[in-house]
Amino acid sequence: MTGANFLLEVDGKKILVDCGLTQGLKLADDINWDPFPYDSKEIDILFVTHAHVDHLGRVPKLINEGFRGKIYSTLPTRSLALPMLEDTAGILSKNTDLHLDKIYTPENIKLSFSLWQGFKYHETIKITPNLEVSFFDAGHILGSAMVLFIYNGKRILFTGDLGNCPSPLLPDTEKVANVDYLIMESVYGDRNHESREDRRKFLEETIEDNYKRCGTLIIPTFSLERSQELLFELNALVENNRIPIMPIFLDSPLAIRLTEVFKQFKNYFNEGAQMAMSHDKYLFDFPGLHSTLKSEESKMIGNVPNPKIVIAGSGMSTGGRIVHHERHYLPDPNNTLLLTGYQAVGSPGRLIQEGIKTVRITGEDVIVRAHVVTITGYSGHKDCYGLLNFVENMQDTVKKIFVVMGEPKSEMFLAQKLRDNLGLEAYVPEQGSSIILSC
Ligand SMILES: [Zn+2]
Repeated sequence: MTGANFLLEVDGKKILVDCGLTQGLKLADDINWDPFPYDSKEIDILFVTHAHVDHLGRVPKLINEGFRGKIYSTLPTRSLALPMLEDTAGILSKNTDLHLDKIYTPENIKLSFSLWQGFKYHETIKITPNLEVSFFDAGHILGSAMVLFIYNGKRILFTGDLGNCPSPLLPDTEKVANVDYLIMESVYGDRNHESREDRRKFLEETIEDNYKRCGTLIIPTFSLERSQELLFELNALVENNRIPIMPIFLDSPLAIRLTEVFKQFKNYFNEGAQMAMSHDKYLFDFPGLHSTLKSEESKMIGNVPNPKIVIAGSGMSTGGRIVHHERHYLPDPNNTLLLTGYQAVGSPGRLIQEGIKTVRITGEDVIVRAHVVTITGYSGHKDCYGLLNFVENMQDTVKKIFVVMGEPKSEMFLAQKLRDNLGLEAYVPEQGSSIILSC
């Protein structure tokens, strides 16, 4: 995924929206360490839409290059950002060639939080007499926001990533009216997800099938949001006796740490989750669940008899503890690999999803005989239908739409749909290009 990074120059201020790492096969791709196309020292404010690494992963680099402005986000994003940046620092420190440890220093991370201020949704942030900004709930992950700039009455909306509503945990994406210019994501701009209503049923069936085969069900999962959603869904299935009780391992130190942040922001959950909390205080805890923080505990999982479930990162099987489990469990036809998230082109997760029989995982060839199941209903992004629906709400006012942050095919497809179906001016801007908006 391309690291989001937009520069807005308005009223003499230089404002960034997001400062993300490009993520793909190799986290430390050179592209992430090319100089920024602007002077970091001159940036006044960075707005961070949400705590995914492709939206905030280059904050330490910005700090390293002299940025000393303000960082603004929602309150949950600020709290989630620290574990996300520290985890990324841990991954990057292993790359000795690029000397990234000199950028991802504890000092640079600490300094970024001394500049970082959290806001509630809808709070007005006055930047200049003519410019104000506020956050709207994007429904993508906890604390995720669209950023609305209002300059001389003109409304410019950056969507960040837009949630796949209804989410198990979060409120729906808010509707923002009277938008003049829209900068929108397009990760799933060319595809539609299967029914969201059926996702819990598919999850239940996958667990039951695996239980009958007495196998291990491994779920490569993004640590942020997807892990907590799965815990919430598993909690409901266990508490309602929909699945048999069996050992379920949350084998991800980052997911365990992030789940603690979720517990602090329960008031940001949707009505259904808030209601569930009224008769079950522990939405992320249930009989059979084991959170394995230490690597010794993680190694012991292999000794636990089947059937069992293992949830671990990384979500695309590019690293993390999941790769050890995949090497161990993928060759056995009694086991199941369940994919619930986006798999980048070329990632081991994508290759397995496409049916490859031998996959190279961290330098080792692994034969895939396990069942491979994909449930797209848990995707954190709106699909093509959802994105078009989102834009329909502002159809009468929007003058231009810039389609960004997707694979090129997806961006082009969505822009075409916006032109054909809604008759709107939609473009895919080239990376690095500048556009003047008439305000
Ligand atoms: Zn995201």
